[in-house]
This record gives sequence, structure tokens and C-alpha cells, in this order.
Amino acid sequence: MIRRGLAVILSSPSGAGKSTMARRLMAWDQTLRFSISATTRPPRPGEVEGRHYYFRTREQFGKMVLDGEMLEHAEVFGNHYGSPFAPVAEALDAGRDVIFDIDWQGGQQIRNSRLGGDVVSIFILPPSIAELERRLRARGQDADDVIAGRMAKSEAEISHWAEYDYVLVNDDADACEARLQTILTAERLRRDRQPWLTDHVRSLNVEFRERMP
Ligand code: ADP
Ligand code: 5GP
Repeated sequence: MIRRGLAVILSSPSGAGKSTMARRLMAWDQTLRFSISATTRPPRPGEVEGRHYYFRTREQFGKMVLDGEMLEHAEVFGNHYGSPFAPVAEALDAGRDVIFDIDWQGGQQIRNSRLGGDVVSIFILPPSIAELERRLRARGQDADDVIAGRMAKSEAEISHWAEYDYVLVNDDADACEARLQTILTAERLRRDRQPWLTDHVRSLNVEFRERMP
């Protein structure tokens, strides 16, 4: 009997490190799947269609929403982003855990969706706002005005921190990754996520009875 997969939501202000942490988690456990979002944002240098995002026009994105293909969708920094449902459903049904790198609006929608009981949500805070800005600049992939726009929205994103099951400060990357591994390991051990335990305890009881004189 397999358990259903977990929907692991990572949110943070842009630049706090959630993509880095998602990448590290997937290198740690290769059974993890990443929910590849669709977006109307243009690709950054090095971003690959179908690996980082599905890059879509506004018209194509709008049709996906109308056709009911999205588990959640939201406008972030003036572009549309959304999580296509079909690949997520397939992975969860097969017992695979799925990581979502999405904003607070998407987090709320998934928590309120039919996936509710399978959701583990984690908010990542930066150690300071100065360090957040440093990381956005160090990533070196966004123009100054884009960085300024993201910094301006970071306070609003951070205001949703208390809606999440877990909150981590991403100071040291190795330490943050270790905390994420601990969360996933513990969440997988919850009683209701080990459906085979009922059979196991039944077999222990049979063994007890067999030992009776
Ligand atoms: P997000 O996905 O939240 O926008 P990224 O994962 O792209 O953020 O991280 C932004 C930048 O900060 C990247 O250049 C990344 O390498 C760097 N970074 C991530 N975590 C840390 C950390 N703990 N310490 C220093 N730099 C970090
Ligand atoms: P970026 O443009 O830096 O890749 O992402 C910008 C923001 O959009 C990040 O906060 C990211 O988590 C969020 N985002 C990415 N994909 C999705 C999605 O499918 N849904 C929602 N709601 N937010 C997303």
C-alpha cells in the first residue's frame, strides 16, 4: 500500500533562496518531483523551456486557466504564474512528493484546494533585508528596475509568513538545507502518512496470539 505524495510548498520573498533550496532537496532525494510552473515572464538567460518553466504568452496562459488546467495561479510582479495540475496529480497518486516554488497566493490556493491534507508549507525568511538585496543582485539575472520592484514587494510577501506550517531563516545554506531535510523526514513519518502500519500492527498481533500457550 503506498501513501499519497506530499505537496511541499516553498515560499519566500524573491531572492531569499527557495529555488536554491528546492534544487538542493532534489539532489538529496531524487524521488522528489518539482512542479514546473507556467509563466508569462520571459526566460532569464540559461532558463530552459519545460525544465525551469513553461514559458507561455498571455493568451496561452489565459486558455490554460479557462480550461481548468491550473491547480492555482496568480499574478506576481506583473506576470502570470500557475501550477499545471495534471503532472502534480500524477506524481502524488504515485506516492511521490512534489515541491512547489510559488508565492503566498499560490500557497493559500493549494492549502484550500482538495490537496489540503497532503500539503506541507514552508516559508523561507532572509537573515536581513540588506542580505536579501545582496542575493538578488548576486544572482545577476535581473535588471536594476526588476530588482527594485522585487525588493518593493518583499515586505508584502513576508507579511504572510505566519500562514505557513514551518518557517526557516536561510542564513547558512547548508544549515537551511538540513532543516528542510528534517521537516520532510518527519512529515513522511506521520502516522497517517504510513498507511501500511495498520497491516504491520495486525501482523504483530497475530504473532502475539501465536506465542500464547
Ligand atoms: P529565490 O528562488 O527565493 O528567488 P534563489 O534561490 O534564486 O532565490 O537565491 C538568490 C541568490 O542567493 C542566488 O544567487 C543563490 O545562490 C543565493 N543564496 C541562496 N541561499 C543562500 C545562502 N544561504 N547564503 C548565501 N547566498 C544564498
Ligand atoms: P521568478 O520570476 O523569480 O521565477 O518568480 C517570481 C515569483 O513567482 C516567486 O515568488 C515564485 O515563487 C513565484 N512563482 C513561480 N511559479 C509560480 C506559480 O506557479 N504560482 C504562483 N502562485 N507563484 C509562482
